[in-house]
Amino acid sequence: MSGRILVDAFSRRIDYLRMSVTDRCDFRCVYCMTEEMEFLPRSQILSLDEVYRVAESFVALGTRKIRLTGGEPLIRPGVVGLCERVAALPGLKELCMTTNGSQLKKLARPLIDSGLNRLNISLDSLENERFGELTRTGNLSQVIEGIDAVIAAGFQNTKLNCVVMKGRNDGEINDLIRFAIDRQLDISFIEEMPLGAITEHSRATTYFSSEHVRQRIAERYTLIESAETTDGPSRYWRLAEAPNTRVGFISPQSHNFCDSCNRVRLTVEGRLVLCLGQEHAVDLMPILRRDPGDRVLLEEAIIESMKVKPYRHGFQVSDDVQVVRLMNMTGG
Ligand code: SAM
Ligand code: SF4
Repeated sequence: MSGRILVDAFSRRIDYLRMSVTDRCDFRCVYCMTEEMEFLPRSQILSLDEVYRVAESFVALGTRKIRLTGGEPLIRPGVVGLCERVAALPGLKELCMTTNGSQLKKLARPLIDSGLNRLNISLDSLENERFGELTRTGNLSQVIEGIDAVIAAGFQNTKLNCVVMKGRNDGEINDLIRFAIDRQLDISFIEEMPLGAITEHSRATTYFSSEHVRQRIAERYTLIESAETTDGPSRYWRLAEAPNTRVGFISPQSHNFCDSCNRVRLTVEGRLVLCLGQEHAVDLMPILRRDPGDRVLLEEAIIESMKVKPYRHGFQVSDDVQVVRLMNMTGG
């Protein structure tokens, strides 16, 4: 490692990069996408080699954790090979991935062999019909088989991610926790964020705060607050009844987690997005395409970008679109 590190204008050390490897997805989750989606033409997206080069430069600048996401990262051909190359970067402590689980039955084993350290798997419902409604195109048993394949492959500290929506899946919170306990997984509950225009429901009416989730959990379990962190935005609690399962809360609306922000995101178009909840971004694509071998220019652009990272997002509970990008563009 070069000894250089990334620090933003508010003295926050930035050492976590989330990279979207595709905007495409085999699901159309109601909070993330519209039913009819238009995806980017291939010429406008980074090649996997370009994604690797950005990862390499970030790691040279002190990045310790990288998460591959999307869209659905596992539908991009070649993604396992990318994992292998990124996992081998000297200095990187952890390579993670967020996935909807649809491809894990066949890919869990190649992924662990590639050096990928950890998986987050989205799971919003355990009821077939509701799962179908929320994902529009997803198949629950395929995802559960994928989760079981991940456990069989030997992945540790796997976490389930659940976006909670009032009147949709809030009645399943404790069943999802039971599912996590039975498989010795962690689980995080996420407040829906106002990213991109969706038409299927009103985000203001489905808003269900993390505090409400905790009240629901307290009907069945005893929550114990903990100071643990995985270097992401989740705040963790333990359950007295099941000490091996951590319950996390990602609360962008009700609890501002910006003070300790340590991350930036790369979109699959090559834009470095400096805050999930703001539009500030730096376009790395021209540098990557103009001078493919030049790491100096790329690293200078990354260092410069730190100056424009905003202090905080401005999410509020409402139906107004506060950021025009949908989540699949930015990488959740
Ligand atoms: N396709 C993968 C998946 O679903 O896990 C990775 C990409 S997805 C955009 C990453 C995470 O963002 C998922 O856990 C998803 O539930 C969450 N997400 C998507 N749109 C969201 C929104 N508007 N508010 C909160 N979370 C959202
Ligand atoms: Fe696809 Fe993930 Fe968005 Fe669902 S949340 S539509 S699985 S990218």
